[in-house]
Amino acid sequence: MRAVVLDRYGGPEVLAVRDVAEPEPGPHQVVVRMAASGLNRLDVFVRQGLTGPGVRQPRALPHVMGAEGAGTVVAVGPAARTDLSPGDEVMVFSGLSCGSCRFCRRGETSRCPRYAILGEDVWGVQRELVALDPTSLLRVPAGLTLTEAAAVPTTFTTAWTMLMTTGRLRMGERLLVVGASGGVSTAAMQLAAWAGAEVWAATRSPDKARYLGGLPYVHEVVDSSVPGWSAEVRERTGGEGVDMVADAVGAPTWPDAIRSLATGGRLVICGATGGDRPDLSIRELYQAHRQILGAPFGGWNDFVDVVGLMGRTSIRPLVHATVPMERTGDGHLIIERDEHIGKVVVDLT
Ligand SMILES: [Zn+2]
Repeated sequence: MRAVVLDRYGGPEVLAVRDVAEPEPGPHQVVVRMAASGLNRLDVFVRQGLTGPGVRQPRALPHVMGAEGAGTVVAVGPAARTDLSPGDEVMVFSGLSCGSCRFCRRGETSRCPRYAILGEDVWGVQRELVALDPTSLLRVPAGLTLTEAAAVPTTFTTAWTMLMTTGRLRMGERLLVVGASGGVSTAAMQLAAWAGAEVWAATRSPDKARYLGGLPYVHEVVDSSVPGWSAEVRERTGGEGVDMVADAVGAPTWPDAIRSLATGGRLVICGATGGDRPDLSIRELYQAHRQILGAPFGGWNDFVDVVGLMGRTSIRPLVHATVPMERTGDGHLIIERDEHIGKVVVDLT
């Protein structure tokens, strides 16, 4: 069966579509025919062979790419504990965990000591068939296409964890999302508006600013290409600042993100796509009672919560582009060049 395979680290050209062995499902597992897979910055980092604190690399090459996706159940093992049956449409959750430690028992699976991520340290979902435990699969809510569903598991779980589980965003609070055009950011803005927060979007691109300003859930847009842009945030909030900043960018945006915060405000972080060594004074944090909260991805509980919400609302991933499997590298380039607003999805059919 075909898969998006990484034989060596490098540029988008190292990705190849070729045959790999079909999965050999255990009696407890479910086999899914994959339809689509959402790309994340994670895919780019895996392909590049990024190393450093907190970075997992593939355990071996060749490696199959892809952290999140959706497809259709084709077989259910005789001992699988699930009510799924062939023909059901499912989303594949990106995190694998032991299922029995104290974190897993509470659904906080991303804290598991044996935690792994599909497409990062173990083979991912960008292939025709995957065999997984039912604990990795959740039914696609009515109203979502498989392309949309493929862009949910990593992206919306991360956004939900960041804002709700970790950040405890409340109605009436002001949230600023920096790097607002990314997949997690566009998810976060929809979730925040649903929660009754006032959503501010910061972007460096005039074109993206125009687009974001037209979204019904965006209240204000900030031009973060201007040095010291936090001054504008403070001015436009009457000197108050915002209650929470959601930041997946990291080093380039942290100083102004923190200066945008009100007294007691929270910086919630889920990534460091622009670098992981910010240059700032910690006095700007503690003197203003500000907090920094880490929210890497999220657990099964968060996934179930956010998918449940999507089944009851019109919250959907913004799909910027869909690329065929053979052009997965082009999808990576769109993300690396920051050309996207929302998600890039790989068609695996
Ligand atoms: Zn565990």
